[in-house]
Amino acid sequence: MSKKAVLVVISGPAGTGKGTVVKELVRRGAAEISISATTRVPRGQEQNGVEYHFLTKEKFERMIGEDGFLEYAEYCGNYYGSPKAPVDKWLSEGKNVILEIEVEGYQKVKAKRPDCIGIFIMPPSMEELENRLRGRNTETEEQIQKRLSRAAEEIPLAELYNYVVVNDSVQDCADKIEYIFKSETDN
Ligand code: 5GP
Repeated sequence: MSKKAVLVVISGPAGTGKGTVVKELVRRGAAEISISATTRVPRGQEQNGVEYHFLTKEKFERMIGEDGFLEYAEYCGNYYGSPKAPVDKWLSEGKNVILEIEVEGYQKVKAKRPDCIGIFIMPPSMEELENRLRGRNTETEEQIQKRLSRAAEEIPLAELYNYVVVNDSVQDCADKIEYIFKSETDN
């Protein structure tokens, strides 16, 4: 059954370019992006309310107690979570909402909101993923190897998602995802 707006979870291995695809969808006005909360400290140029909402551990735990998150996880000693209120506000206004989170977060959201749509973004090949990770020039060889082995673990989990889209070009990938939004809603 189609509806006014959909909650969409987008996941995919580091280096697939999913962040760029999501930015393109937001630029096109196809969806709102949920900004996660975290207790980790900002990195580099990161700004509060742009990349993340940077919260103290106390504030984050208070929000957990108030059932303020759709899902949250502990990762490398810090909390990360998707605040519930903006997501529900946008959905009630008929706007599609994207959560860009990893696979475990997706499984938690799917359990709570079975009608959410999972989209897994796949690199064109492992060779291309490796080229992209190396091309970013932001990771050490050890980090690249870690991300590649993490990608090999994540790719088989693509079967848990409603759709798998290969990112061979940002525009084509964004077009396909927009088409999914249209086919899942009556907009
Ligand atoms: P980073 O510290 O590099 O920004 O993010 C670390 C990890 O946390 C990434 O795998 C990222 O996808 C994940 N992450 C970011 N926001 C959330 C969230 O709201 N929920 C969950 N479960 N994971 C998140």
